[in-house]
Amino acid sequence: MRALCWVAADELAVREVPDPELRNERDVIVRVRRSATCGGDLPLLAGRDPLLSTGDVLGAEFVGEVVETGPAIRRHRVGDRVVVGASVACGGCWYCRQGRHSCCDNAGVDVASVDPGWGRSDAGCFGRPRAAGGFAGGHAEYVRVPYADVGAFRVPDAVDDDRALFAADAAPTGWLAAELGEVRPGDVVAVWGAGAVGQLTARAAVLRGAARVLVVDRYEARLRMAERHAGAEPLDYRRTDVAAELCERSGGRGPDVCVVAVGPPPTRSVADRFAGVDRPDPVREAVHACRKDGVVVVLGGTDWFVDAFALGAVTDKRLTVRGARRPDLRDVPMLLHRMARDELRTEHLATHRLPLRDGPRGYALFADRADGCVRAVFTP
Ligand SMILES: [Zn+2]
Repeated sequence: MRALCWVAADELAVREVPDPELRNERDVIVRVRRSATCGGDLPLLAGRDPLLSTGDVLGAEFVGEVVETGPAIRRHRVGDRVVVGASVACGGCWYCRQGRHSCCDNAGVDVASVDPGWGRSDAGCFGRPRAAGGFAGGHAEYVRVPYADVGAFRVPDAVDDDRALFAADAAPTGWLAAELGEVRPGDVVAVWGAGAVGQLTARAAVLRGAARVLVVDRYEARLRMAERHAGAEPLDYRRTDVAAELCERSGGRGPDVCVVAVGPPPTRSVADRFAGVDRPDPVREAVHACRKDGVVVVLGGTDWFVDAFALGAVTDKRLTVRGARRPDLRDVPMLLHRMARDELRTEHLATHRLPLRDGPRGYALFADRADGCVRAVFTP
């Protein structure tokens, strides 16, 4: 089959790779109908993950059709149209039993290979380096989906592929951010970053009853989308004093919840990481802007090392700081229902639709945010 593979730093290619096969009784094979680029792919694309190897298939977010099922599969049949959550989780460990699939103990990397700075591995993920416990991704004709009764979800007829696609990762990650932020009716919520996850965090906050949601970015087209589709107020940080605006629009207190959804930092190398040259500007701004006793949620940032962080502000303002990198799976059915009821629309995020053979061009557009690209979507 054909798949979009990582070849070398800043080089992707569509190559012939072996078809995936059932390996375990809880696997299914899915024929991909759509797959999307993801911000978490960009550090990989740049070759910043030392565990990447040539031939690794990218693609964390995909929707498709079940074509083969393992003998222990109970919830799926051949022919089902499914969206597959980006997190791979076993469904049976201590974390999974509580619905915290992104913390799964069994489906992630070998603990021995975890960076000592992290201490514990998180769940597995599609489209991540094989050597880091990743699973071949969805930028391919077929994908093997492990633990498919846990991570694959039947898509309601009322939800088309372009909308359902974002129930894999961007929508549940945005929902998780609003949940971790404990967004309540009447809250003022600020979101840094108007990419797909930022927009869907804003939408989740609105659906949870936030009185005002402000989105901070510099890309005009993304800000307009956040306004139109999420019901958010746009703030262009090139033209606005963000701190002053956030203070003004929250009755002088500062937002109740601040979510940083800007994607991975622009670090260039492992040496840079340890030299502490990451730019935590949005995190610093969020800690600065947040009201006392508020919540700051930081998303993504897989290789974030941050120096000169205002930890004193966290204690003085008794802030709660929470983080997340991957979504849980428990919210996917609820999000699909909201999509079916038209409460949650996501198809506008697919700004560029390309055949899989144009995958390298799609990633170039996505990485440069060129031509208003929010997400490039591929069809095999
Ligand atoms: Zn688990």
